[in-house]
Amino acid sequence: MEEEQTLYMQQATTYQNSQDRTKKSGLMTGLSILGGSILAAVGGAIIYYVGTEACDRIMCIAPILMIGGGIGTVVGLIWTIINAIRPTKSIRCPQCNNEDRIYSSVKKYMCTECGTMLLLGSNKELDPQFSACAYCGLQTAVTEDHGQFLCPDCGFLRYSDGSEGDTSTQECPGCKKNVPASVIFCKYCNTILRADFSAPPVAAFGCEYDEDWKIGKSKSGHFQFARALLKSVREHLPLSEDILETQKLLDQVGQALISTEEASQDTSLREMIEKLMPEFDITYSGVIELELKQLRELPKKKKFKSDQLDTLLNEPFILARRRIEELFKESLEKGGGIGIWNEKLVTVTKDDSKSRVTNFIGLESEVQRFAAWKAALKGK
Ligand SMILES: [Zn+2]
Ligand SMILES: [Zn+2]
Ligand SMILES: [Zn+2]
Repeated sequence: MEEEQTLYMQQATTYQNSQDRTKKSGLMTGLSILGGSILAAVGGAIIYYVGTEACDRIMCIAPILMIGGGIGTVVGLIWTIINAIRPTKSIRCPQCNNEDRIYSSVKKYMCTECGTMLLLGSNKELDPQFSACAYCGLQTAVTEDHGQFLCPDCGFLRYSDGSEGDTSTQECPGCKKNVPASVIFCKYCNTILRADFSAPPVAAFGCEYDEDWKIGKSKSGHFQFARALLKSVREHLPLSEDILETQKLLDQVGQALISTEEASQDTSLREMIEKLMPEFDITYSGVIELELKQLRELPKKKKFKSDQLDTLLNEPFILARRRIEELFKESLEKGGGIGIWNEKLVTVTKDDSKSRVTNFIGLESEVQRFAAWKAALKGK
């Protein structure tokens, strides 16, 4: 039976498709802008010239449709032409040998067959080859003219021509060994050393912890990333000043769960993931406690912009959590964790482009449940 795609792979594929890295997707984007705009312009014109006085409201959107559609048609046309004549190159994936034709200017491309991230340069003749990270050993598919990049697993600054990476070091607080300053985890004792992914170390100018960086991760890289995200959530909890900031932490818990599901595809990591689950529960417990406190302090009937409470409304982390619960069903509770997380903790009502929290009874009882669980843990 073919397994359903992980949430992470769905996210990565959506991301890559949004980037127009092949002629096909570039043309698709151009043509859909063009088609939509022509329809809008023609529709607007029909309403304008055929419509009757009776439909006043429609009459006033007609000129907007015509002008917007007209501008869109020009943009769509230019976009389509540019994408039709942009030079392409053919690249071969060293993992599965699949060949894809992509735009020559594309520097990062996820193999459509096996999902391997390919880091490319400008020389059309060079195919990516595997190169090992000097710190963590991760094999990355890269052409020698790609330049510098952050190791997807450990964050170490690497160079595609094999020259020495970042040489600055730090002392691991866990085992006191010297490790590169830029790395996410200590490979000797597993301590997380970097939890801030807003910007890379200064030395890594031009590199980012972006989606492409994440796509290059191995399963164990995803595991370390999830641990780092959890650490980051715990560090930022005391600093969160309002419910909007707390939602960002909820999002990070969600990302950590998504990476954990990805890591669990490697069955050899599952024992370590099981051990990580109570840490997820403790961290999440802190987030929902804070969420409850902040909701209680909100002025009655406080309204937000319509999309500002979307994280509370959709609880995006729950789907990822369900998938992990499915995998670790039996061990979740006996492993010291709380087991299944409840969903629909908060009711968000949207009206007149505003949204507000109308009910959080579910959140109150979930916070109590976590508190009782934590108290029992201490008693043991
Ligand atoms: Zn491949
Ligand atoms: Zn590495
Ligand atoms: Zn260490």
